[in-house]
Formats: sequence, C-alpha cells, structure tokens
Amino acid sequence: YRFSRRPDTGARLRVSFEFFPPKTEEMEARLWETVVRLAPLKPEFVSVTYGAGGSTRERTLHTVRRILTETGLTPAAHLTCVDATREQVDAVIREFADMGVKRFVALRGDSPAGVGQPYRPHPDGYTNAAELVAALKRHGDFDITVSAYPEKHPESPDFATDIDMLKRKVDNGATRAITQFFFDNDLYERYVERVRRAGIYIPIVPGIQPIHNFRQITNFASRCGAHIPAWLAERFEGLENDPETHQLVAAAVAAEQVLDLVERGVRDFHIYTLNRAGLPLAVCQMIGIRPTPEAVAEESAAA
Ligand code: FAD
Repeated sequence: YRFSRRPDTGARLRVSFEFFPPKTEEMEARLWETVVRLAPLKPEFVSVTYGAGGSTRERTLHTVRRILTETGLTPAAHLTCVDATREQVDAVIREFADMGVKRFVALRGDSPAGVGQPYRPHPDGYTNAAELVAALKRHGDFDITVSAYPEKHPESPDFATDIDMLKRKVDNGATRAITQFFFDNDLYERYVERVRRAGIYIPIVPGIQPIHNFRQITNFASRCGAHIPAWLAERFEGLENDPETHQLVAAAVAAEQVLDLVERGVRDFHIYTLNRAGLPLAVCQMIGIRPTPEAVAEESAAA
C-alpha cells in the first residue's frame, strides 16, 4: 500500500462501533469511558454483541438499555440463534423492541462446543441467520444488518455457497452487511465484486479490527478463518514486550488500511473496538471523522 493522504472525496465518511457486553464492574467502567470518548464522533450506530447460547443475554440487554437511556447514540443489538428455541429468540426480540431498539445485527452464531465445531441448530430453533432475519421482520420494521465474509466463512465449501447465504439474508430483509475483519484490502474488493455479480446491492461495510494485541488478534483470526498476511506479522515482530511501539504500529497499520479503503471508494466503516477508544479514535482522526461542532458544544455545555 501507499501511505497516502486522505483523498479529498467531498463525501462524508460514516462510522459505527462495536462493543461487547462487559462481565465485571471494572470492565463496565472501561466500556463507559470508551462510549463517552467515542460518542462525540456521532457514529451511525453502536452495536453490542450477543454471546454464544444467550450467555450474555442479560448483559447485552443491560448494555443496550444503558446506551438508549444514557446516551444519544443509536444502539444495534446483535442476536444469535444458538441453543435457543424460536420462542426464546422471539422473546428476546420483543424485549429489545419494547425497550425501543430498532436496529439488529442478526447472526447464526457458533456451536457452543467451540468455533470450528460443526454447528447443530436447536431442534426447535432458527437454523441460520436468514431465518433469524425473517423472524425479526415478522416482529417489526427493523433495520437489519448481517455478516459477510471476504475470505468466505470457514464452514462454506466455496464462495458460491457463502454468497448464496448472504443472498438469502438479503431476500429476507437484511439491508446492510458488515464483514468479518480482514487485513488485505484486495480480498475485500474482490469479495464485493463477487457479491455484486450475484445481484446483491446492499452496502458491504468493512469490519475494521485495530490490532490492540497482535497475539490475541492472531488467535481470533485463526478461529474465524481470517488470514494474517506475512507482511503484517513482520510489522509486529519483536514487539511482544514493547506495548508503546506496538500501539504506534497498530495505529499506523489501521490508518493505512482505512485510507486505502477510502481511496477504493469505501465510505462506511464498522470498527471492532474491543471496548477501547484509543485506536478507533486514531483511525477516525486519520480519515477526517471528528467530533461534530454540535458534539463539542454539548460537551463544553456539560462541563
Ligand atoms: P450464516 O450467515 O447463517 O452462515 C455463515 C456462512 O456459513 C454462510 O455463508 C454459509 O455458507 C455457511 N454455512 C452455514 N451453515 C452451513 C452448512 N450447514 N453447511 C455449509 N455451509 C454453511 N457471533 C456471536 O456469537 N455473537 C455476536 O454478536 C457476533 N457478531 C458478529 C458480527 C459480525 C459483523 C460478524 C461478521 C460475525 C459475528 N459473530 C458473532 C460470529 C458469527 O456468529 C459466526 O461467524 C458464525 O459462525 C456464523 O454466523 P452467521 O450469522 O455469519 O451465519
């Protein structure tokens, strides 16, 4: 890649952030610090993940409720089909809807036996994300986002099968897809071309994973079928015990990736924050997403 300046596109770039529901009070405090720091960037929405088998059900509900009641942000609730009957999933949908949630990220989820183990739907459950999208649509006119896999999902035998599932999700009412993270922008571009050739025209928003911890991201990547290019591993080589340089390299790598995507015409970004604000703020700063004048005014009024 070239390390270019942000091209003057004239078009407004948009961002959304992903959080996970915290497990402890300390983690909760950290998430709220992060939310407060990222809120002035006026993201399109902020999403909250949902743990396997509904393990985070209460925590996801709690986090989404706090976002709705304590911030001006628009939450998107993730929801999965894992280990739940259709009735149980429908009950969670109603709980979110009663709270005022209008956006969902609909997912199948992974086998409770672990990522990579064959997925067995609950006998009375929704079998995949396409069925979950249809269920959501039956409950209300929600804005529904689904997943997409630039390197194909590890369970998909080929891209055609993978993109066929995306098509089913779109046919059932999904209007946006967020991708699994990736580090090679050519893979993303090729994937979007395949998707368009299949007659799918919804936005395919790149999921950007800033590398807070290279070892941790390598583990995530191996589980979800994302490829770590050799040049990327090289950049982090020898930084295991040097967090400061690691952080600077991570910011440079993420900035390089998003600037290149902007040059390729991307206008929307979804950032996997891992509940930390530093790198997401740096990425947004680099592509010109700054606190809006209204947000700055609100902040000084509150201070
Ligand atoms: P689907 O879209 O239903 O299927 C994914 C792919 O698997 C399809 O392309 C299809 O081709 C293939 N496939 C599915 N079933 C079969 C089969 N029987 N045979 C052959 N191929 C098959 N997980 C969580 O637990 N909680 C979250 O909050 C969460 N959020 C996520 C957000 C994003 C943006 C992304 C990209 C992933 C997220 N995940 C989350 C991970 C996701 O649950 C896993 O990747 C899961 O393995 C697939 O879920 P899906 O909705 O993508 O599945």
